[in-house]
Amino acid sequence: MTDDIGKNFLAVNKRIAQACEASGRELWPQLLAVSKKHGTDKIKQLLQLGQQAFGESYVQEGVQKVEALKNLDITWHFIGPIQSNKTKLIAENFAWVQSVDRMKVLSRLNDQRPAKLPPLNVLLQLKVGDESTKSGASQEALLAMVVALRTMKNIHFRGLMCIPPPSVDSTVQKSYFSEVLALYKQLQSTEPQVDTLSMGMSGDLEAAIQMGSTMVRVGTDLFGQRPG
Ligand SMILES: *Cc1c(COP(=O)(O)O)cnc(C)c1O
Repeated sequence: MTDDIGKNFLAVNKRIAQACEASGRELWPQLLAVSKKHGTDKIKQLLQLGQQAFGESYVQEGVQKVEALKNLDITWHFIGPIQSNKTKLIAENFAWVQSVDRMKVLSRLNDQRPAKLPPLNVLLQLKVGDESTKSGASQEALLAMVVALRTMKNIHFRGLMCIPPPSVDSTVQKSYFSEVLALYKQLQSTEPQVDTLSMGMSGDLEAAIQMGSTMVRVGTDLFGQRPG
């Protein structure tokens, strides 16, 4: 087990390196280790190997891990669907939230971010690939949130996140990512602090890196299949 995580970590970093080289990129995307449904022992193993950012998708499970590992130097990202009655727990426990897709959730996070903590880093999730995707904001709704963000003092707006429908065809993957890249570039011209484009998972990180991703979120290929 221990060996697997070490090997997986090397293999994922190698894929990232090769994808960067293939697309002529010098700057590597950040790697977010998606630890949902995996235990804290595995998180500690990866932390020892130098991985520092971890992502969780379920509020209760995520908060338990944040609590259990609070003495360790981990940056926690919330990346799952957000019910509005869970925003307080998220605002109190995470450094980043990547899955904000509606105004109500955004303004609750701003109101509920504790004053003693630094502003909450937020990515807005753009809906891509209509039919099969449940979560994410339309471009229009997202732009309305961008305007609102300009006056939200407890939130640091950092950029965009997307979860395209799964596809094994890299041409299809790239067409989804290029939509998101276009909006990201547009935002950077009016919101100078925007610096994060979170796209790419185990199955499509090469395509995402080619299309300008600055953060890939990898679960399965680091930790193995999720139990349950
Ligand atoms: C689970 C999850 C991931 C990781 O997916 P893998 O295919 O296991 O790499 C990435 N992003 C989000 C939002 C997720 O929910």
